[in-house]
Amino acid sequence: MSNDENFAPATRLIHAGRRPEWTHGVVNPPVYHASTCIFDTLAEMDARVRDPSSGLYYGRRGTPTQWALEEALTQMEPAPAAKLFPSGLAAVAGALLAVLKCGDHLLMVDSVYEPTRTLCDRRLKALGIETTYYAPGADIAPLLRPNTRAVFTESPGSLTFEVQDIPALAEAAHKAGALVLMDNTWATSLYFKALPHGVDVMVQALTKYVVGHSDALLGAATTTPELWKDFAAAVHNFGYCAAPDDAMLALRGLRTLDVRLARHHANGFAVARWLEGHPEVARVLHPALPGAPGHALWQRDFSGASGLFAMQLRRGERADLAALVDGLKLFKMGFSWGGYESLILPVRLAGIRTADPWPDEGGPLVRLHIGLEDPADLIADLDAGLQRYSAAVT
Ligand SMILES: *Cc1c(COP(=O)(O)O)cnc(C)c1O
Repeated sequence: MSNDENFAPATRLIHAGRRPEWTHGVVNPPVYHASTCIFDTLAEMDARVRDPSSGLYYGRRGTPTQWALEEALTQMEPAPAAKLFPSGLAAVAGALLAVLKCGDHLLMVDSVYEPTRTLCDRRLKALGIETTYYAPGADIAPLLRPNTRAVFTESPGSLTFEVQDIPALAEAAHKAGALVLMDNTWATSLYFKALPHGVDVMVQALTKYVVGHSDALLGAATTTPELWKDFAAAVHNFGYCAAPDDAMLALRGLRTLDVRLARHHANGFAVARWLEGHPEVARVLHPALPGAPGHALWQRDFSGASGLFAMQLRRGERADLAALVDGLKLFKMGFSWGGYESLILPVRLAGIRTADPWPDEGGPLVRLHIGLEDPADLIADLDAGLQRYSAAVT
């Protein structure tokens, strides 16, 4: 069935990438551990060298384990092909390095994932690539320069969750001859189809919802058909590839992505609604809540929400958060998100954003990842935590 676009996304997730020549009569493709691939004849070797996509060639080019994952990702978007990277950040770096060169200008959203920002401010700068940050929601047209090669966006933004008008952004960028790159980790291709909305290069950290169990790091990138050949060649030049065991874990996660995300969405929304009514909570930054920045765009362009959002407390200091977080029974503190478990993380924006500085007022900002637990238990855990917080700040 592999290329049948008439099937619904949930159906495609189950069947994508399971070619009989890769699975050999079992349900899942085997995990091939391979560097060297061997050829029996000179003619066979020469044929593979001429066309490395004709079969096994060398481990860095993947085996049926990685190919099955790439093909499955391709069908979700849909996209011509996909490349795997050893982490989400490697996918971001690889995509930027594949399209930019010395002397280029990059327009970057101010609400971007912080390590992406550091990459621009340090490594890209050292390579002679200049980055300008734009406020999420700003009209980018006046910021585009003759040498602006790319606009990089993330929607919703990391930590603050502003949803942007991607089709409008793409129109402005394309008019000026710039490409649009997007980090689509929050929604995945299941809830936001980046390429059909005008994005040229879509990257995602599979580490989050696709792997879904907090046990592997992996990234992926895909592009429009026009860009693919050059993009893939550049990624090969840099030597990016992904381990077969991690590809297998991502493939396993992908099969249940639709049911997991629906539950993350429902649980996250229930917790967000409850937090909105809590006296210690000043605001909840969740794209699916009416009044959130970009809520109407989320409604127009997205088909769901994941379980990651933030809340700002009304009063108190960061140190007071110990009263809230230290005694939680279900929410643990930790970086990353997208696994089956709930997480809580105090975050700081002071000094990070430059185009659209976060107002230094109100209480601390806290990021929440709502897992697959029963939402009533999660609410009870937060309720007790916020009671302790109230007592600590008064
Ligand atoms: C986590 C994350 C990444 C990086 O993924 P890793 O696999 O941890 O390197 C990139 N972008 C966004 C939006 C993320 O949340």
